Amino acid sequence: MENIRIQLDESEIPTHWYNVIADMPNPPAPPLGGDGKPVTPEKMLEIFPGAILEQEMSGERWIAIPEEVRDIYRMWRPSPLCRALRLEQALGTPAKIYYKYEGVSPAGSHKPNTAVPQAYYNKQAGIKRIATETGAGQWGSSIALAGQMFGLEVCVYMVKVSYDQKPFRRSMMQTWGAKVVASPSNLTQAGRGVLAKDPNSPGSLGIAISEAVEDAASRADTNYALGSVLNHVILHQTVIGLETKKQFEKIGAYPDMVFAPCGGGSNFGGIAFPFLADKAAGKKVRLVAVEPTSCPTLTKGHYAYDYGDMSGYTPMMLMYTLGHDFVPPGIHAGGLRYHGDSPLVSQLYKEGLIEAVAVAQVATFEAGVQFARSEGIIPAPESCHAIRACIDEALRCKQTGESKTLLFNLSGHGHFDMASYDKYFAGGLEDYDYPEEEIQAALLRLPKVA
Ligand SMILES: *Cc1c(COP(=O)(O)O)cnc(C)c1O
Repeated sequence: MENIRIQLDESEIPTHWYNVIADMPNPPAPPLGGDGKPVTPEKMLEIFPGAILEQEMSGERWIAIPEEVRDIYRMWRPSPLCRALRLEQALGTPAKIYYKYEGVSPAGSHKPNTAVPQAYYNKQAGIKRIATETGAGQWGSSIALAGQMFGLEVCVYMVKVSYDQKPFRRSMMQTWGAKVVASPSNLTQAGRGVLAKDPNSPGSLGIAISEAVEDAASRADTNYALGSVLNHVILHQTVIGLETKKQFEKIGAYPDMVFAPCGGGSNFGGIAFPFLADKAAGKKVRLVAVEPTSCPTLTKGHYAYDYGDMSGYTPMMLMYTLGHDFVPPGIHAGGLRYHGDSPLVSQLYKEGLIEAVAVAQVATFEAGVQFARSEGIIPAPESCHAIRACIDEALRCKQTGESKTLLFNLSGHGHFDMASYDKYFAGGLEDYDYPEEEIQAALLRLPKVA
């Protein structure tokens, strides 16, 4: 009998992260400051430690993972690669479906893969406190966990709609010792500005980032940490894809297509970029980022310089964007409600090296429930996006008779998202139309760059 769980030994945890910049056809465009000039390292050092900044700008292909970080990775890594045999049978597809399961981390998602090294490098730099934002709460809980492990204080600005929908994420963060604030809050100028215009603002990742960056920039003992989008975050997440490649090697298989949900692009880049290295070397593999139709950054956004946050505190990055002040509908996949996308993912999409599709909310929950009923694991609403796209491909294979090998990243479990499942079962979930007018209006307010 073939194994359905492909496991690696702890000693096989990667020793190096993979930096996709080394294999990109064109160098990435630099982030720009308010004056339209590339941001100086000094400016970035106000909120990031030197080691992180170095990784952010590095073009080296391989970057060593500190032993202290590998030691903590060992608590849940290597994560399993699983064959979804029962799902294949339920679908009646000749396709072979595999998933990499990142829900085995203590926080239940892939995010601790970067939270741990970020906390480590800040501790090394003598920082005492981290300020950050969180959408659905996965990043906040991951940095709370990592901060706790290195004795750092953590303050999390949590997007208000999620703060209200996901009270147990807040309890998790508090259990790991973090302070949690609903955003927009009255603790920062950015938050007070939003509340003055709209006291009932549901918040957005963009607003929460503004608050956290302002907090970090105003205190010498505090740095900022970002759970997605930036180059160093995706670098750290490549442990996912590097392990997956070893696991496929063990069984003598290789995926034809790789799917991952795409919010800011970190779990997608994490699983896909190590395969992109093979693609650069001539191998055939399709890499597909899956996003919600209500926040269709890659499929409907503009490729332009834009701010990473609502108020324009962050540098401008060249990326696919829906406009920095676009507030997406309150869908349940909170981790996918971001107006922009990783500049690396954006550039690779622009250059045609990766693909993107958008899927509607109700169909993602259908896919998640079908997956749970065959494979047992209840997926996070974000992960359901990748499952939807993967199942759709498996059903196409059923039509054509192709036995493609499909891989998706099961970026997290949904144990703290059961209120969303309740709503789905009660028939209370909606598909939001593509909010074209709002997006067009937000795009008109993109910053002007000479
Ligand atoms: C945060 C999150 C995402 C989306 O963020 P990316 O940076 O695009 O990976 C997807 N799935 C889960 C489970 C998450 O927690």
